Amino acid sequence: MSEVHMAEEGPGKVQAAAFNCVEGSTEELAEQWLKVRERLRAEIGDVEYKTWLLQIVLGPLEEDEVTLFLPTRFLRDWIRGQYGDRLEALWRAENALVRRVELQVVRPATAVPIAEPAPDSTPAASTPRDRVEMGEENPSNPGPEARHDLAAPLDPRFTFSSFVVGKPNEFAYACARRVAEKPSSPGFNPLFLYGGVGLGKTHLMHAIGSELTQAGGVSVAYMSAEKFMYRFIAAIRSQSTMEFKEHLRSVDVLMIDDLQFLIGKDNTQEEFFHTFNALVDAGRQIVVSADKSPSDLSGLEDRLRTRLGCGMVADIHATTFELRISILEAKAQASGVVVPGKVLEFLAHKITSNVRELEGALNRLIAHANLFGRPVTLENTQDVLHDILKAHDRRVTIEEIQRKVAEHWNIRLTDMSSARRARAVARPRQVAMFLAKHLTSRSLPEIGRKFGNRDHTTVMHAVSRVQELMERDVAFAEDVELLKRMLEG
Ligand code: ADP
Ligand code: MG
Repeated sequence: MSEVHMAEEGPGKVQAAAFNCVEGSTEELAEQWLKVRERLRAEIGDVEYKTWLLQIVLGPLEEDEVTLFLPTRFLRDWIRGQYGDRLEALWRAENALVRRVELQVVRPATAVPIAEPAPDSTPAASTPRDRVEMGEENPSNPGPEARHDLAAPLDPRFTFSSFVVGKPNEFAYACARRVAEKPSSPGFNPLFLYGGVGLGKTHLMHAIGSELTQAGGVSVAYMSAEKFMYRFIAAIRSQSTMEFKEHLRSVDVLMIDDLQFLIGKDNTQEEFFHTFNALVDAGRQIVVSADKSPSDLSGLEDRLRTRLGCGMVADIHATTFELRISILEAKAQASGVVVPGKVLEFLAHKITSNVRELEGALNRLIAHANLFGRPVTLENTQDVLHDILKAHDRRVTIEEIQRKVAEHWNIRLTDMSSARRARAVARPRQVAMFLAKHLTSRSLPEIGRKFGNRDHTTVMHAVSRVQELMERDVAFAEDVELLKRMLEG
């Protein structure tokens, strides 16, 4: 019969609790526990759930207190800190008797005797399902991955030469290059890259890694903060934290991507902080990325934020139209498919969120062209990217039309309603009226009012004038078409 090892506190109590478990209510309790876990899983997502909560084993309910068992003190503290309140609230909602949730540590080897259930000493009134899940995630049986393969492989496509440089990213690019040329130089350690999603942080980190590994003689470890956490947890479970630490502290360059993931994960943060210090003190290079600057990463420990900001902090700004065009041109060229400039412009206008989406749209066009052997045109772009464009769509307003048209011809927005009649101003104004007529459901008088209280006959005239010009002047027609597509999607 397996013996229950109690770690830390109150062994007597846990054992007693296990024995006192009232048979009749066990099933009900297990049922409730299942619901609590499902609710929590829905709230926090599968990944977190599997990492943390799968390992909880249900204990008894005594008076108003339900006990949950955890295999390690670390997990107990973590779950108490992160999910304690939620667990309690969900339990209360599920069972009116419950007022408190007690988390207790029971050594993993004996917490769930999978092969040979021994009811008397099993601390948990766990359901068979609990056991299966625990078996899969059995802490004493880490996967082969847990010990080896600490870093993630580098993506060979993400190099410096495939990175298109423009105003928004030139500083970050220069810093990354510098680190790749001369790691651990003072002032550049750590290198902290930050910016919104899909703007090239991961790309730059891989580029640094590839450059350094190609040069040889330098060991590089790249991993996401999430992976860092998993590895760390796996190491704890398999009692190989020393190996984990030693491995990380033996690399020349450590790169941790998406550090914001560690917000609220205090224990992993703590571990990272120590690794960080050990490496920097030993003159190794650290590169970190996040979605915000160190000072804006509230939720990271102060001392960690301070240290992160000590080297070089470089932000990647949102893309500009020019950069989007350059990136599209580079990628189109690399693909070998001819993509007309108008299409690139259209994409750069429509998909402004980030490079990843832009790239996705272009890749789809290219795949289509290759698959069907059809040239890419503005028309089929619209079809092929129908769903993507729709997602980026909003309802068009007259104000928006005026703004886009003014931008396009480089005139002032106020000229849309001014009395100026110079051709350079009057023509765009007419186009804007034309588009307002075609893209909105506004009446001619309504449109007239938005253009400096002009008469509806003026709007009518503008509409027919633009129509006429489009038939005569191909370039002009293309401009108007482009604007129209941009506005309507
Ligand atoms: P982040 O890590 O900032 O979320 P990524 O580095 O994953 O963004 O970039 C998303 C995609 O966009 C990748 O495929 C990357 O190659 C591409 N990308 C981003 N910025 C550039 C750039 N300046 N030049 C070329 N490709 C880029
Ligand atoms: Mg990234």
